[in-house]
Amino acid sequence: MTIELLVRDAHVYLRRDWEIPGGWVAIADGRVHSVGKAGDEPSSQRTISARGRLLTPGLINAHHHMYQNLTRAYAPVTNGTLFEWLSGLYPLWAKIDEESVYLSTYVAMVELLMGGCTTSMDHMYVHPKPYLIDAQFRAAKDVGFRFYATRGSMTRSVEDGGLPPASVVQKEEEILADSVRLIEAYHDPKPGSMSRLALAPCSLFSVSERIMSESARLADTYDLRLHTHLAEDHDEDTYCAEVYGCTPVEYFERVGWASKRSWVAHFIYPSEAEIGRLARAGVGVAQCPCSNMMIGGGSADLMDLRRRGMHVGLGCDGSASTDHASMWLEARTAMLLGRYRNGPGSMTARDALDAATMGGAACLGWSAEIGHLMPGACADLVVWQMSDVALAGAYTDPVEAWLRCAPAVAGLTVVNGKPLVEDGLPVLKDLQDVLSRHARHARRIQCVEA
Ligand code: ZN
Repeated sequence: MTIELLVRDAHVYLRRDWEIPGGWVAIADGRVHSVGKAGDEPSSQRTISARGRLLTPGLINAHHHMYQNLTRAYAPVTNGTLFEWLSGLYPLWAKIDEESVYLSTYVAMVELLMGGCTTSMDHMYVHPKPYLIDAQFRAAKDVGFRFYATRGSMTRSVEDGGLPPASVVQKEEEILADSVRLIEAYHDPKPGSMSRLALAPCSLFSVSERIMSESARLADTYDLRLHTHLAEDHDEDTYCAEVYGCTPVEYFERVGWASKRSWVAHFIYPSEAEIGRLARAGVGVAQCPCSNMMIGGGSADLMDLRRRGMHVGLGCDGSASTDHASMWLEARTAMLLGRYRNGPGSMTARDALDAATMGGAACLGWSAEIGHLMPGACADLVVWQMSDVALAGAYTDPVEAWLRCAPAVAGLTVVNGKPLVEDGLPVLKDLQDVLSRHARHARRIQCVEA
């Protein structure tokens, strides 16, 4: 087999328990063909030297709302609570359409690639117009990104005691029919897939009980994964107590979601017993440390959840809550948060990197192929770029230095064997045009003059 790309002379982190100082990774046909130490490199059509750099699997983003980069750092709501923030932004989000969702998805994926992320889910739950997720799949294809869409939904508007305006919620039948249409059009379960789809009602307080239970049933029928926000805010506890007479986790169990198919975002306020039950059920968690800290609402204890057997990945969350999409920054913040909470011996850079790679892959039910660089894995990798100034004096541990020293960005990001970022810059010829069209839509939505 012809080796198409060889990245050599790097400190290669293949997975948690396997690193090769001065190592190389050879890629053929979208897969990791082989790995090894300096001196036994195979010949290749193209060779890139990564001398002095760290090479890792591409990071995996387990929770995001890409369309929100159309309303980044939106001043009127930046200091609100979660519910105030959502209520303030929903009227703006009601103005998104197919083109703005295409552009926001394109921009989000480029931003993720520049931060070393090669696979991301997206939780798209605002549907003022049809075919928005179709637009996202088009953007993913144009960028070359490995995309795990989730068909989000809301049925409860302000008139039914929910938060969003009526124009962004949908009828139950409409949601279910569109979910089936999207699954059949885009979900590709085959190995090496570039497009998958999960079902993702927005939250327990924004959809009907029927949508929760029917989504679980559809997931069984089509062998899909399930995603939602869970235990993110104390307002959710109050809502569930009043409307369902139980806690959010009890309701989650009641509607058939406590299963290996599910991964949830945040999971900040479960009881000890509830953590144990969902861990035994096989539910995964996407921790979003920057979003949690920005909104000031607490955060899950990542290492404790892992000790209890839960798969924990990391997510950057929506681009209007954390306003960035750097998974490196999420990994660093997760490490800082863990050590701040539990002391300096509680969490290492490798723990954070493992969460950002294998943890995310497990959330997506995709650990066999992504999140590591074992031969046969999908060829999704990053060579990290940090200045010589930032790394001056860091000689003893390249993985700790990567997360402790100054901001790391991707020098090279490879997805499915193809370099999409080189020398720190995206290799996408349409990017400038996409950015100017994105600016027009963002200004329209925020009513900001050019
Ligand atoms: Zn979210």
